[in-house]
Amino acid sequence: MSRVLVIEDELAMRHALEDLLASQGYRVITAADGALGLERAQTERPDVVLLDVMLPKVDGFTLAAELRRLGCKVPILLLTAKGGVSDRVTGLDAGADDYLAKPFEPQELLARVRALLRRVERAEARMDRLQLGSVEIDFIRQSARRGAELLHLTPKEWAMLRMLAEARGGVVSREQFLDAIWGYNAFPTTRTVDTHMAALRAKVESDPSQPRHLLTVHGTGYRLAGDTPPD
Ligand code: CA
Repeated sequence: MSRVLVIEDELAMRHALEDLLASQGYRVITAADGALGLERAQTERPDVVLLDVMLPKVDGFTLAAELRRLGCKVPILLLTAKGGVSDRVTGLDAGADDYLAKPFEPQELLARVRALLRRVERAEARMDRLQLGSVEIDFIRQSARRGAELLHLTPKEWAMLRMLAEARGGVVSREQFLDAIWGYNAFPTTRTVDTHMAALRAKVESDPSQPRHLLTVHGTGYRLAGDTPPD
């Protein structure tokens, strides 16, 4: 059952969306202002967010941008009141995936929600495997091989590789690696991340001194340049 977060301050609209989505079997979570919406988007882990633009406390554009800044990749369908071009552009630039102008047809809203959920499913399916040059990574079996040669990655190297893959080409900062993999209670330095990245490159890159896949983003962290495996 997919979970939909509805962030909408107008009571009648919120209830209408809740009823419509619930009638299709979605589990609906609601928030009546932007601040609560931002909190629920992070704590409730919805599969899709319906986001009104004009909201008390935090407006929809700011909310979308803030979620993206925090690394949250949940698909966002922006509900624009005006339907103006500048609103749509601002919304998409802020990180929304799609928009729908009010008033909208219930069937169209449901179709957009289904489309966003399908997009996530496809992306997740692709995440099972990764092709980095001649190296094949299989996250399900946790196996990495270059042709017949099996590459042995440590648990921390697997975790780093997975974070990079899940960022889908986006930057993962050294601090994000540290927080997620080493945890707050350990006291490694950002140099620790670089050391592990060098070890990972030595295994995965054909020329570790000229990495083509595990790329340094100067002053920030790393990003992955992968090849999508053939379907
Ligand atoms: Ca509103």
